[in-house]
Order: sequence, then structure tokens, then C-alpha cells
Amino acid sequence: MSVREAVTKQVDKDKDSLIEFVRKLVRIPTQDPPGENYPKICSVLAEELKGLGMDVEIVVAPEKVLKEKRAGNIVWEAMPWSGERTNVIAKLRGMERRKTLLFNGHIDTVPVGAGWTKDPFKGEIIHGKLYGRGSSDMKGSCAAIVYAFRALREAGVKLKGDVTLTFTSDEERGGYTSLCYLVDAGYIKGDFMVGGDGNIENVYTASNGRIIFKVTTHGKAVHSSVAFRGINAIEGMVPVLEELFKLKRVIEARESDIPVNPRQGIKHLTPLLTPTMIDAGVVPNMVPSDCTLMVDRRVVPSEDPRKAVKEVESCLAKVKIPKGKCTLETSVVYDPFEVDSKSPIAVISTKVMSELTKSGVTYAGIQGSTDIGWVVNKGKIPSVFFGAGRIEGMAHGADEHVKIADLMTAAKAYALIAMDYLGH
Ligand SMILES: [Zn+2]
Repeated sequence: MSVREAVTKQVDKDKDSLIEFVRKLVRIPTQDPPGENYPKICSVLAEELKGLGMDVEIVVAPEKVLKEKRAGNIVWEAMPWSGERTNVIAKLRGMERRKTLLFNGHIDTVPVGAGWTKDPFKGEIIHGKLYGRGSSDMKGSCAAIVYAFRALREAGVKLKGDVTLTFTSDEERGGYTSLCYLVDAGYIKGDFMVGGDGNIENVYTASNGRIIFKVTTHGKAVHSSVAFRGINAIEGMVPVLEELFKLKRVIEARESDIPVNPRQGIKHLTPLLTPTMIDAGVVPNMVPSDCTLMVDRRVVPSEDPRKAVKEVESCLAKVKIPKGKCTLETSVVYDPFEVDSKSPIAVISTKVMSELTKSGVTYAGIQGSTDIGWVVNKGKIPSVFFGAGRIEGMAHGADEHVKIADLMTAAKAYALIAMDYLGH
């Protein structure tokens, strides 16, 4: 039996305890907002990683630094938050120490939301699927990263290069996350990174950026029986929406040359401009003084986010509001990124995934956005990402789940990628 076979067999042997570990993580709610139980989940991860002989450190992103970096960001100002943010860093020294490979997972989840038929914090298993908030995005993948290194240790594999694992918080809300802090504070150093976010259907080498626009039309509140004396902010929003929908058609006619999974319904990464929230009024018999519109813009890697901001600014400058005025606030939540699909980490990852799934797993871009962009753009570390989730795994939806078979594949893949890149 080859060493590679011994490692994948070891993951198979560890199946039950891997499942239990995912359930343990799912049973600790880490919803953001508010950003709860980070210290608790970090101590569970830290304990497991210490057991694998790793040097483990709990690193706290200080509230003061985060407050400064997040000031004025719409996603952080819209929902209250406070306190430091806890993260785990685990290091394993290699025999030759010439290369360092990083792995990252985020420990936070979106809130539970409505429509669940299963307990979101139980980790119930039905027909080979483990249910729970965060099971697919991405506690399953966090556990798979840990179990990849458990299998390597149990199979007696000594890696030549170094490994750094990071488990970080606040990815879901975006903006300046704990991973951004770890990059800036010098904790993230290495040659390449593999992220566990995303799904098992491709190896992701590119991702869109995300910008949020908050447009507010301002009017004057009066009794609705004498509405003609006031200025209706909803009416002011009508020409804004008309211009934005014209711009949407222009933006969405563009296309990048980065392939996406055809199951997404498009062929290439595509920029989007999507109004997502609208809010006005207090009671039915009062003319509203303010109307607020949130717009989500996805930026492909070939677009400059600053130009995308200017584009919306000049679009709104054209708007003629009959009465009242209009203001715009903007936050770049995540920058887009693209890594060369011929870089060693992309080539090794697609090869390993094709081998394990016995299908042609290809590299692709993803319409979503992630803080891995900070590692690539600011940290200058080429990164790819893929995880145990699937498109149909209901990430961010009701009855989120992960397939047990995909957890096993992800754990095997992370282990083999570490072996192939670092040597053993
Ligand atoms: Zn995620």
C-alpha cells in the first residue's frame, strides 16, 4: 500500500470521529450577528490541534483595531457588534522547512433564519447528510482540515515543509475580518494557501468582489391627508431605481473570461448590480421623510472596485429627483481576486480532487466573495479554495447540510495536497 493510500484509508478509519467532531462544532452556535461563542469554538479546535502535536496559539483581534478598520463600513454599522474576536493558529514544523503551506477556515456562520425543519444546532444525520447551521459553510470543512492532519499523523507521514492552519472569525459579514487582521499583523506567512470555503465541485482560483451601496432619498414627513404639503421620499426613489436598473443592464452585459461551474447557470464570472433591500415609512397615514435602498454590486477580478463605485456615483448624479434630495454611502466589502490557474497550488489541488472524485474537477471562479482576497491581494499569497459543501447544500438557507461522503473527500484532499506540495 502506498503512503497516499495509507493516508486516505486512515481518513476512512476516522470517519465516525470526524462526524462527531463536525457535530461538536455545529452544536456551538457562532452566528454573526452578534458574533457569538468564538472563544468557545476556538478552544475546542485548539484542544484537538494540540492533540495532533501542533503549536497552537489563540490570537485575539483587538476590538480597538477592528473598530478603526470597520468605521464607516455599512455592513458593520447596520448591525451592532462589540468585543475582541478570537481566532486559532496552529503550526506544524516540517523536516526541511523550506516551504510553508497555509490552510484557513472561518468559524462564524450566518444567523439561522426561518424555514428550518431540522434543529439547526443538533447535527442530525439523515440519509448520509449532516444538518445544521454552518455544516456546509463551513464547519464541515474546518473539521476536514483538522482531520487531514490527524490522518497524516496517524499514518506516520512526516511532511518536509511547514504547515500553518488558521481558523478565523467574521468572514460572513465581510469587510475587515479577523483573517485580514492576521495578514496585517504578520501572522499569515507562507507560499500558498488553501481555504476550506466554497464547495467540492471545483477548485476555486478566483472570486468576485463585493460592494454595498446605501442610497437614501430625503423628503419631508407630513400627515398623509395633506400629503401635498410634504415631500414623499418614496417618490424620490423612483427615478433612482430607474437609473440604477439602466446601469444594471450595462454592467451585466459584461462578462469575464474566468469559467464558473455551469450549474450556476452562467458560463463566466459575471458582474452584478442588485437592489436587495428597500425601506421607507413609519405608519400608513404619514408621508415618509426617508427611503433607503441597499444595492449589492459583485465585481469581477478584471474590474477595479474604485471604478465600479464611480460608475454608480455618476449614475446617481444624473438622477433628477422632483423634490427633496438623495445621498449615497458606499462600502467595499471584499475586493475580487484571481490566482493563476497554472500556479502550483491550483495544479496540485485540481489533480488531487480529480483523483479522489474520479472525475475531471477543474479550476473555476465563484460569484461569491471572501476574505481570502485579502490574503491574495494584501498578503501576496496565492490561494485557492474549495470545501465539503455543495451548491445544493443550502449554505445560508434553511436545512443547511453537508454530505458525509464530501467531508471524507475534503479531508483526504487537504491531506494529499499537503503531501504533494510540501513533500514527505
Ligand atoms: Zn463560508
